[in-house]
Amino acid sequence: MLKVLTCLTGQHDFRLVLVAGLVCFAACFTAFRLFSRLRGARGLVRGAWLLLTGLVAGSGVWATHFIAMVAYDPGLKTGYSPAGTLLSLMIAVLFMAAGFAVASAERTRTNDCAGGLLLGLGIGAMHYTGMSAFVTQGYVLWEQATVAASVIIGVSFSAVALVIAGRARSLTKQLIGGTVLTLGVCGLHFTGMGAVTIQPDINVVVPEQLLSGAMLTLAVTAITGLIILGGLGAVTIESSTSRSALDRIRRLANAAYEGIVVVQDGRINDANAAFAELAGAPLGELVGKPLYNAMLTFDGKEAAREGVRREGLLQPVAGGRAIPVEVFSRLMDDGARTETSGLTVLAIRDLRERRSAEEKIRYLAEHDGLTGLPNRNSLQARLAAALERVEASGETLSLICIDLDHFKEANDLHGHLAGDALLVEAARRLQDSVTAPSFAARLGGDEFILVQIAAGDQPAAAAELAGRVLEQLSTPAVYEGQDLAMGASLGVSLFPDDGRTAEALLANADMALYRAKESGRGVYRFFKREMDETIRERRTLARELRQAITDEELVVFYQPLARAADGEVCGFEALVRWKHPVRGMVPPLEFIPVAEENGLITQLGEWVLRRACADAASWDRPLRIAVNLSPLQLNQPNLPTLVHEVLIATGLSPSRLELEITESALFKDYQRALDNLRRLKALGVRIAMDDFGTGFSSLSTLQSFPFDKIKIDKSFVENIHRHDRATVIVRAVLGLGRSLEIPVVAEGVETQEQIDFLRGESCAELQGYAIGRPGPIDSLSAWTLARAAAAAQLETEARGAA
Ligand code: C2E
Ligand code: CA
Ligand code: CA
Repeated sequence: MLKVLTCLTGQHDFRLVLVAGLVCFAACFTAFRLFSRLRGARGLVRGAWLLLTGLVAGSGVWATHFIAMVAYDPGLKTGYSPAGTLLSLMIAVLFMAAGFAVASAERTRTNDCAGGLLLGLGIGAMHYTGMSAFVTQGYVLWEQATVAASVIIGVSFSAVALVIAGRARSLTKQLIGGTVLTLGVCGLHFTGMGAVTIQPDINVVVPEQLLSGAMLTLAVTAITGLIILGGLGAVTIESSTSRSALDRIRRLANAAYEGIVVVQDGRINDANAAFAELAGAPLGELVGKPLYNAMLTFDGKEAAREGVRREGLLQPVAGGRAIPVEVFSRLMDDGARTETSGLTVLAIRDLRERRSAEEKIRYLAEHDGLTGLPNRNSLQARLAAALERVEASGETLSLICIDLDHFKEANDLHGHLAGDALLVEAARRLQDSVTAPSFAARLGGDEFILVQIAAGDQPAAAAELAGRVLEQLSTPAVYEGQDLAMGASLGVSLFPDDGRTAEALLANADMALYRAKESGRGVYRFFKREMDETIRERRTLARELRQAITDEELVVFYQPLARAADGEVCGFEALVRWKHPVRGMVPPLEFIPVAEENGLITQLGEWVLRRACADAASWDRPLRIAVNLSPLQLNQPNLPTLVHEVLIATGLSPSRLELEITESALFKDYQRALDNLRRLKALGVRIAMDDFGTGFSSLSTLQSFPFDKIKIDKSFVENIHRHDRATVIVRAVLGLGRSLEIPVVAEGVETQEQIDFLRGESCAELQGYAIGRPGPIDSLSAWTLARAAAAAQLETEARGAA
């Protein structure tokens, strides 16, 4: 040790030693800066960084050695052989590159130590190769132990330097690493020099062509300086381009709508503006904060898994409601840079908007747009939940089907807006009539449902509610200053007596509703088992009838009407028949009421009207054709338009068409019916009062509208001469017709006796089996063909005379 010190102080030029030290430090520090780049790179880039690191470190260490050698003055003439000098440079570069390559291959301490070993051995090899190129006037003697010590110093300092600075990107650590390595290099060098003793010998010739110390110092310092500058430049350029790339990425990330957060070891490493906003804190405050389980929690237990979309909650830093988010995570390791490994990038999407949209959609899907009540879709689910509840709690449940009476008429009469207002008002009243967990729902149209969940006894509780609802729905609704009549029919089914499932309860309440409507509306009915059978039959009939209309199973029969005076056929009444494929010919009295009930009559009636007009238009003789109109048809606002259209389409003269209406049809909506009749009459169509005597038979009805004909119901005609009362009525009606100047027709005339009586009372026309039975169109030729007419007339006259 003492020897080393005396060697250093006694035989060295201190200024040059300082230069050597500075060159060494510059090289070592630069090597570590380069090394930090090397650790992140792969493939060709890694090779290039490795070469540069080796070059900088190797040439630096080599330069240190030679400058220090120049600083060494043994007091004799000295020189250097070029070959050995060059060889020592190559050794230095190679070992340095190898040492750094090993240290950077894997992030372990073993690699650092192995790398350090290579560096140390490299420095030693370079030093002693360099020393072998050293020529002086004398013999160089070596002290083996000190040589070994010098190599140990070089190796251990190198290893420590690699351990300290190897992994770090921080400048401080690189500076420390550089210093330690410099100490290693200088330590090895000067200890090595301490092992040298020169025994002067004048006979040893130092050749003149050898490199001189001063030249060498200048050249070496300059070249090494350039290499070091090149290395530093490379690092600076690389880091500034990667910084600007990073800047670009950050700008891009900030432009992203989604929150992006970089996580390392569960803590926030970086984030974009969107995430900062979502988290409600500036980026500076967020960095370093733990993310999982603190700010971000997932629906399941585990944290965000790579490549999997997950949903969770983000708790804003400042508190407040947690934000529902969707998280997508990716490991950032792109295989090229190790400084990004261990980082996870999470894309965080705010789900609040989507959630509220979903909620809105769900609301719209489950509620009726007009009234806001739960709709048919959600009724099933709600009812099922209610049933589950009462099964468990032992509460009672009743289901009430509600159908607004005369809603369609109100809708037609006052318009759809009024109709809507009526529905909204009805919904409000229904809603108000129950409290949760009971609820109201709208099935569609004017049909509503109440589900009553009650603690009280049934059927008392349901009866009480039904009564209350009827009362509430009976007060008119006000729409734009006018009163709209309201009213409802209710059908009630009870759980569990009338059904245990939603379907059964609904079907049975519906059946009870049907009964309520049948018994004159404005009432409620409880479901009863026996309702089942008859109603099911009618339902089947209705379903089949609907099909029959489209399948053209309906036919029109025609029954002749004859003038009472001379018996000449003057027209026909169209009477519909249903040729049922199984039941055979179904009489209209069985299916017309069914068609009336479910509105099918409009379609059916239109079909009959069209058929009858078309048939009549084909007849040779311009005989009249009478068509029956149902009450529902008469209240259809578009009836006159329809009739007009049919007349034009078939080419039938309006004066040949006679429409038969009953008195009751007038009273459904008196004003509307009269209005329609006037418009029909304006078309030139004739109107007959059918079945007169069976209804109110009021004189005022006959006076209210100029009917073209009165038809006395066949129930009176068949009792002529059998019951005095019937005879009196027939006489009275005939008298009424005469005084009002309205011709009267007698229906159901079956006997000659009846004909005679009616002729005597100057009845205008006769209709009945005595004149002719209703028959299909092709059985009418006797009357409808022009040449047949005369013959038919002759025959009637002959019969009249007999
Ligand atoms: P309605 O308008 O009073 O028709 C007369 C009914 O009396 C017909 O019965 C006819 O066959 C029957 N009839 C005719 N002459 C005699 C007779 O001498 N003795 C007896 N006992 N009956 C006689 P139908 O065809 O069964 O029609 C029954 C009812 O069905 C009709 O009564 C009418 O109200 C209705 N109807 C028939 N076709 C249509 C139609 O196309 N549209 C509408 N809305 N109703 C129709
Ligand atoms: Ca009739
Ligand atoms: Ca009739």
